Amino acid sequence: MRYLVIGDIHSNLAAFEAVLRDIKARGGFDRVWCLGDVVGYGPDPHECIQLLRQFEPVCVAGNHDWAAIGRVDTADFNPVAAQACRWTAQQLTPEDIDYLQKLPLELCQDDFTLVHGSPREPVWEYLMSREAAQDNFACFETTYCLVGHSHVPLVFELVGSSVVYRMFPDEGSLRLGENRLFINPGGVGQPRDGDPRASYAVYDANTKTVYHYRVEYDILTTQKRMKERGLPLSLIMRLSQGW
Ligand code: ZN
Repeated sequence: MRYLVIGDIHSNLAAFEAVLRDIKARGGFDRVWCLGDVVGYGPDPHECIQLLRQFEPVCVAGNHDWAAIGRVDTADFNPVAAQACRWTAQQLTPEDIDYLQKLPLELCQDDFTLVHGSPREPVWEYLMSREAAQDNFACFETTYCLVGHSHVPLVFELVGSSVVYRMFPDEGSLRLGENRLFINPGGVGQPRDGDPRASYAVYDANTKTVYHYRVEYDILTTQKRMKERGLPLSLIMRLSQGW
C-alpha cells in the first residue's frame, strides 16, 4: 500500500497536477492522505477541491479551509492572506463548502495521526522548534504524526527523551522504526523553505519507509492566474522564491 502524503495545496492547481504526474511516474499510489489547507492564497480553489475529491482522500482541515467557510475570522490572518481568503470564499460552490465543513481536525490512519498544525493545536500551531515538538509528542497516541502548516519539509524524532530535528531532503527517505516522529512533507502549493518546487511525500506501508520528493511546476501559469484574479502581488511574487 502506497500513500501519497500532501499538504498545503493552497489552490495551486498547476503545482497539484505536477505532483500527481510525478508520483504517477514513480509508481503511483493507492490512497491520498491530505494535511489540510486545500485552499487559500492561490487562484484555483474550486478546481483543487474537485481534483482532490476524485481520490476520496483522507483529509483534515487547515486554517485556510476554515477561513474560507467562515469558521475562523480572517482578522486572525495577515492582510494579504485575509484578502485572498475573502476572494476564495466567493469562488466556492455549495458542494465545496459542504466538503470543507465536514473535514475533521485530526484523523488516525494506520500508526499515523494526521493534523494540519499540531496535535495540541490542529488549526494554528506551527511545529517548527524542538521545544514545540517535545510538548506535542505528549498530545497524540500513535507512533508517528504527519503535519503541514509550516510548508517546510522536516522531521522531528524523539530519541530517548530528547528531540532531534532535521530537514527532509529532496529524494530523502526515512525508514520508520520504534522512535516516535513528526514528519512534514512540505507544501505542494506554496513552499516556504527557499525551494520553489512543489513538495510532497510517499509512505510505503510494505517497506515502512517515507520518501520525500520535489517537483518543478509551471509557476508562471499559477502567477498569471493569480494576477488575472486580482490576488495580492506579494502572494504572487513569493511563489518564485519559495518562501
Ligand atoms: Zn498552509
